[in-house]
Amino acid sequence: MALAPNVYDAEPIPDAARAEIERLLSSGDLFRYTSESSPVQLLEAEFAELMGARYALAVSSCSGALFLALKALDLPRDARVLIPAFTFAAVPSAVVHADCVPVLCEVGENFRIDLDDFARKIDDDIACVLISHMRGHTSDMDAIMAACAERDIPVLEDAAHSLGTEWHGKKIGTLGKIGCFSFQSYKLVNAGEGGILITDDPELAARATIMSGAYEHNWKKHRGEAGLQNSFAHWQNRLPLYNMRLQNLSATVIRPQLPLVADRVEKGRTNHDYVADRLNTCEWLHVPPPLPPEERAPDSIQFNLVGFESDAEARAFQDAAKARGVSVQVFGLSQDNARAFWNWQFLGEVPELPQTRAMLMRACDVRLPVRLSREELDFIAEALIAAAEAVKAAAPRAYGT
Ligand SMILES: *Cc1c(COP(=O)(O)O)cnc(C)c1O
Repeated sequence: MALAPNVYDAEPIPDAARAEIERLLSSGDLFRYTSESSPVQLLEAEFAELMGARYALAVSSCSGALFLALKALDLPRDARVLIPAFTFAAVPSAVVHADCVPVLCEVGENFRIDLDDFARKIDDDIACVLISHMRGHTSDMDAIMAACAERDIPVLEDAAHSLGTEWHGKKIGTLGKIGCFSFQSYKLVNAGEGGILITDDPELAARATIMSGAYEHNWKKHRGEAGLQNSFAHWQNRLPLYNMRLQNLSATVIRPQLPLVADRVEKGRTNHDYVADRLNTCEWLHVPPPLPPEERAPDSIQFNLVGFESDAEARAFQDAAKARGVSVQVFGLSQDNARAFWNWQFLGEVPELPQTRAMLMRACDVRLPVRLSREELDFIAEALIAAAEAVKAAAPRAYGT
């Protein structure tokens, strides 16, 4: 019998990083501002070019990037920031950290923002909309951008898991005022930790850069035309420093992975769609399709359990899949899951969002690293289908109407 694929190991870092790491180790030159062509500076130039953005600022994490993006907007204390209720705890945390108040919007069975609830909440004194493209699922950005443009509400994008995703052929992370990405190990580009933000707005770029820790005249080492340099000079000494800089070793690990992004995106999508088609042949499993303008870049798969009436049945499915070698996480069923909004007790009173809760109680998450072979993908798909059928065969069936 084939062995269950290991979906937890990371990919090796490209060999091209080694010579530069060696150089950094011998020179001890790890701080980004020791030179104008440090690995961090080069990474920023390369990432901006890859994304077609004017400015990129590398920071210590995507959470840090989200926090700096909110601070760069200069929102008043207690400003209300609309976020999807299906996201990682780091997102409401960044909002709280920026002295703002997260307002949670319902997310539907297709893992995307529920537009009716969005329309209801957008006029409730919302100062900023932070779209988290959770697990790389893109909500209807046409509707969201139009509603925000009409009201002059800035949009930020948490694209931590969306590097390479496109909407109408435009890169996710370039639709809003600022797009934030992660280089944490479970994302498409792995540096252990790290993040980056992109924007076309020189004021926002300058503000975020200074707050990220470009103290004194370190901002002069950032590339940029006169407009950006003027903004830097204006904000000098007027903003607090949060020191969320990236260091050179991390940038050195990231840079040789950037040319691999297109290939990883292509493979990830092919693998995902192959498994999705297989799962959708099973009446108990459903992978929601992408929205028509969306070209996805997945490295994991999410699907819903269909007709699983009780949590016990959903748990039995997790166990049955595990017994067949495949780890499935039903988002809402594991204790203290950081993606289940009811665990965000740091918000104080956690609001109730019945639609998102219902989705989380039946939505499954399986890692699908891009390196997997067809045989390994078959193994995963067959194990999931067999697990669902075993659980449903054992369950009493409701016949008739
Ligand atoms: C990983 C992730 C984050 C946080 O990224 P870090 O770099 O670990 O701070 C935020 N949002 C989403 C959707 C993520 O997947």
